[in-house]
Amino acid sequence: MGTRIVVIGGVAAGPKAAARARRLDASAEITIVEKDELLSYAGCGLPYYISGLVEDRRQLMATPIGVLRDPKFFAQVKNVRVLNRTLAVRIDRAAKAVEVVGVESGESQRLPYDKLILATGATPVNPPIPGRDLRNVWQLKQVEDADRFREYLQRVEHPNVAIIGGGLIGMEMTEAIVEREGSVTVIEMLPHVLPMLDADITHLLEKHMRDIGVNVLTSTRVERLEGNGDGCVARVVTSRGTFDADLVLLSVGIRPNVDLAKEAGLIIGPSGGVYVNDYMQTSEPNIYAAGDCAEKSCNIRGTSCFLPLGSVANKEGRGAGSNVAGHIERFPGVQGASALKVFDWNVGRAGLSVEQAEELGIPVISATVSAPDRPHYYPGNKPIILKLVAEKASRRLIGIEGVGPGDVLKRIDVAITAMTARMTVDEVANLDLAYAPPYSEAMDVLIHGANIARNKLDRLLRGVTVTELQAMRQGGEDLFLLDVRSPDEHQNGCIPGSTLVPLGAVRSRLDQIPRDRPVVAYCKTSLRAWEAACILAGQGYTNVAILDGGFLAWPFDVCHGA
Ligand SMILES: Cc1cc2nc3c(=O)[nH]c(=O)nc-3n(C[C@H](O)[C@H](O)[C@H](O)COP(=O)(O)OP(=O)(O)OC[C@H]3O[C@@H](n4cnc5c(N)ncnc54)[C@H](O)[C@@H]3O)c2cc1C
Repeated sequence: MGTRIVVIGGVAAGPKAAARARRLDASAEITIVEKDELLSYAGCGLPYYISGLVEDRRQLMATPIGVLRDPKFFAQVKNVRVLNRTLAVRIDRAAKAVEVVGVESGESQRLPYDKLILATGATPVNPPIPGRDLRNVWQLKQVEDADRFREYLQRVEHPNVAIIGGGLIGMEMTEAIVEREGSVTVIEMLPHVLPMLDADITHLLEKHMRDIGVNVLTSTRVERLEGNGDGCVARVVTSRGTFDADLVLLSVGIRPNVDLAKEAGLIIGPSGGVYVNDYMQTSEPNIYAAGDCAEKSCNIRGTSCFLPLGSVANKEGRGAGSNVAGHIERFPGVQGASALKVFDWNVGRAGLSVEQAEELGIPVISATVSAPDRPHYYPGNKPIILKLVAEKASRRLIGIEGVGPGDVLKRIDVAITAMTARMTVDEVANLDLAYAPPYSEAMDVLIHGANIARNKLDRLLRGVTVTELQAMRQGGEDLFLLDVRSPDEHQNGCIPGSTLVPLGAVRSRLDQIPRDRPVVAYCKTSLRAWEAACILAGQGYTNVAILDGGFLAWPFDVCHGA
C-alpha cells in the first residue's frame, strides 16, 4: 500500500500539493476533500470574469488547453481522488484519520492518513454593520459569488455600487464595475486605500481614480446600511454622509480558516494562521499546512505574518506536496509582494513601507523617483513613481512600492530579487540591468531611485515627501516653494504658493530666493530641482530640500501659475 495523503481544501494550495505529490510518488493514495462543488479555480481571475474581460467561468478552472479541472480530470489524469461537496469536520491525531461528512448526504466517513495537508484557505471578514443582512450586500470569494455580481451587473443598467474596504479586492472590483458602466463609491476607514502602501503613493492612485469618476472616501466609517422597504439595500450611511447604493460589496479583509487545526490542538501562530516551519510542517510533524490558512514567515520583518495570496499559496502547496512525498524542500518565507491593476495604472509593492518600518521602530530613509519607464524620445513611454525604502544602519533595500501607467512591475520584481539577496542600495544602483530604448532608460528608474537613496544616506540630498510638504503647508510653515521648471510648465499647473525661477535663471536670480527660510525646490521629477539644490548649496544656502518625486508625484491641489 502507498502512502496515504489526505489534502483538505481544493482551490490553490490543496490541488497544487496533491499534483506535486503525485508526480513524485506514483504509488501514493491521494485524496482531496473540498466542501464546495468547484475546485482548482483561479480566484484571482474573478474580478476579470465579473468585468467581462474573461468571457466564460470555465476559463478560470480549465487547463490551458481547455480541459476542466473537475473530479474526473483529477481521477483520470492525476490519479487523485476528489471528494467534493464533502466537509472535513474533525482531525483525529491519535488515530491519524480525518472525519468527513457529505454536504448533501450527511453521511460521514473516516479517511485514514499517513500525511495530512491543511489547505483550508481563508474566509472574508463579515463586519457587524447594521443592515448587513439586506439583499444585494455581498462578498467576493468564490466563483458562485462572481456569478452573482456578473449577472447583476449585466442585468442592471448603470448600477450604483458601494465598495466597503479599499484593499486589493476593493480596488480590482472598482475597475470591474466601472467597466460594466457602474458608478462606484469606495469607502475606506483608514486614511488611505491599500494600507500596505504609504500614503504619498496611494494618494496618487486615489487621485487617479477620482479623475476617472470614482468617489473615493478615506477616513470614513460606515455606520449602517439602509433598505428601501423591499429588503434591498438602498443607502450607505457613513461618518461623512449618506450615499445611495443598489449593490454593496463588503471587502474588509479575510481571516484564515483554522478551526479544524485549532480543534485538533495544532499551534496557531501570532498572526492567526496555522503555525508551520520552513518545511510547511505544523506542530504535528505528519500534518502540513499551506496557503491562506498557514502563517508565513516574513523575511524582512523577521516575524510571522498573514499574507493571503495565490502566488504564495501555490508555492507553499508545491512545497508541502514535495515534502509529504519525501522530496524535502524548504520554503524560504515571503517578501510581502503584491501587484494589482487599477484601470490603466499598475500598482506593486514588497517589503516594508515607511509607515510599517516606523511601526517596527526601524530607522529608514525613503527615495521617491518619478520617471518615464522608457526614454522620453521613445514612443509610448509612460510615467512611473517608485518609492524605495532603505534601512539606515545597513543601507539595505527593505521596501519598494510603485504606481503609474508605466511598467511598474518590472521594477518591483527586480527590487524583490535584490531584497531577497539582501542587497544594499549601493549594490542595487550598480545592477547590470539589460537596456535598450524599447524597454528602459540607460539608467533604469530603479537605479535612479537607488542613487537617490544613496545620496540621502550620505546626506548629500535632503528631500521632503509630498505628504510632508502638504502637512508643512497646512501647518502654515514659512517655507519658500521654488518651482524650477519652465514658465510654460508652471503656467500649466503648479503647487499653490510656489515661485517660478527656471533652473537656467537660478544663479542670476538668487536675490529672489530667501536665505533665511526653508526652501523646497521642485520640477517635474525633481531632477532639475536637485541641480538647483546643488547650485544653492554652492552659494551658501543651508536649508534647501527637494520635493521627493517632483510634481509628477504631487497628488494634492494644483493652481495655474501667474
Ligand atoms: C477576488 C479575488 C482576487 C484575488 N486576486 C489575487 C491576486 O491578484 N494575486 C494573488 O496573489 N492572490 C489573489 N487572491 C487571493 C488568492 O485567490 C488566494 O490567496 C488563494 O486562493 C488561496 O488559496 P488556498 O488554497 O490557500 O485557499 P482558498 O482559495 O481559500 O481555498 C480553500 C478551500 O478549502 C475549502 N475548505 C475550507 N475548510 C474546509 C473543510 N473543513 N472541509 C473541506 N473543505 C474546506 C474551502 O471551501 C476552499 O474552497 C485573490 C482572491 C480573491 C477572492
